[in-house]
Amino acid sequence: MTEVFTGNFTQQEPLPQASIEAAMAVLGHGRLHRYNLTPGEVGEVALLEQEFAAFTGARYCLATASGGSAIGVALRAVGVRPGDRVLTNAFTLAPVPGAIAALGAEPVFVEVTDGLVIDLDDLAAKAGQARVLLLSHMRGHIADMDRLMEICTSAGITVVEDCAHTMGATWNGVQSGRHGAVACYSTQTYKHMNSGEGGLLVSDDEDIAARAVLLSGSYMLYERHTAAPGPEVFARHRMDTPNISGRMDNLRAAILRPQLRELPRQIARWNERYRVVEEGLRGTPGLSLVERPAKESFVGSSIQFLLKGWSGAAVGEVLERCLKRGVELKWFGGAEPTGFTSRYAHWRYAPSPELARTDGVLSGLMDMRLPLTFSIGDCEQIARIIRAEVGAVFQAR
Ligand SMILES: *Cc1c(COP(=O)(O)O)cnc(C)c1O
Repeated sequence: MTEVFTGNFTQQEPLPQASIEAAMAVLGHGRLHRYNLTPGEVGEVALLEQEFAAFTGARYCLATASGGSAIGVALRAVGVRPGDRVLTNAFTLAPVPGAIAALGAEPVFVEVTDGLVIDLDDLAAKAGQARVLLLSHMRGHIADMDRLMEICTSAGITVVEDCAHTMGATWNGVQSGRHGAVACYSTQTYKHMNSGEGGLLVSDDEDIAARAVLLSGSYMLYERHTAAPGPEVFARHRMDTPNISGRMDNLRAAILRPQLRELPRQIARWNERYRVVEEGLRGTPGLSLVERPAKESFVGSSIQFLLKGWSGAAVGEVLERCLKRGVELKWFGGAEPTGFTSRYAHWRYAPSPELARTDGVLSGLMDMRLPLTFSIGDCEQIARIIRAEVGAVFQAR
């Protein structure tokens, strides 16, 4: 019997009924722009910002048009200028180096470990090269944040966290995004809350927060922000901060607020699926799992495994055989970027010396989404298929 999986790896769940109703209310009154308010009205975007600030425990929050725009705003708000060098992960998604390159700064890539986190020894070695680290918790893997912050604090490096895959995750009990000076999240469809496009930024620093609000395109209406610092802080920055328009609108915020209330429950459902796939793959010859550190509580919205030392041809065979059986794996070692999957050597706008350790890891790195539309039975079946196909290719070689 060769079973075939028939589910869809990019199909998310329908939005909760409360999101649909909130969206209809916004459509009904037509005030979609965040600053289009009736007297005394706070507005969906400002409410989302208050609620997300409370969720993360941050003093300030700003909602933006995308995760990438939140990162661009954050880099400018901490003072990155054209020509500056910015440390960042060699293993991440394209909007991360893109945000650095877009403001005329230069990424300095730091190696990845086979635990899929930033290599802290390489970070320490390169710490003298930049004043800012844009740290990407890629695919939800969190580095030893205590040691990372020690390295950065002693080198005078400001940390901007990209939490696109760690919304709701923690390190040693501290929420992801609460170690650095500022953190950015994405609410794009494939992340942990879905508004199609969208982003959030949090900080405890009043100057960073005020600059971020102004950068996001607040015109002179920043007093309509309720999760932002007071007017005296804005007075310091209002004439010196360019508007790079990247606001969120009330429709998206209305959709997101009910999802934020559901997030803890959704995280439990993701992790249940993750653990089922992980257990199903455990012990497969030739396949290494990425063991999760005890201090990390993660969100299993995707799973990664390594085919260490495999040739490109053998990995390609696994991809093909799995796809024939309905299982869509992504590979970070491919010669060409495909879909969302690319690696540092593909980003020609951000040239880098070769990173041997990263190349070694990415050449065998497999990645798979776990949307909540998958049942537990689906996850068991997917793991059986991968196990069989990896096993078959491994044995034949
Ligand atoms: C999705 C993502 C972002 C932000 O992406 P947007 O599509 O701009 O919302 C940033 N970093 C990583 C690692 C991501 O996966």
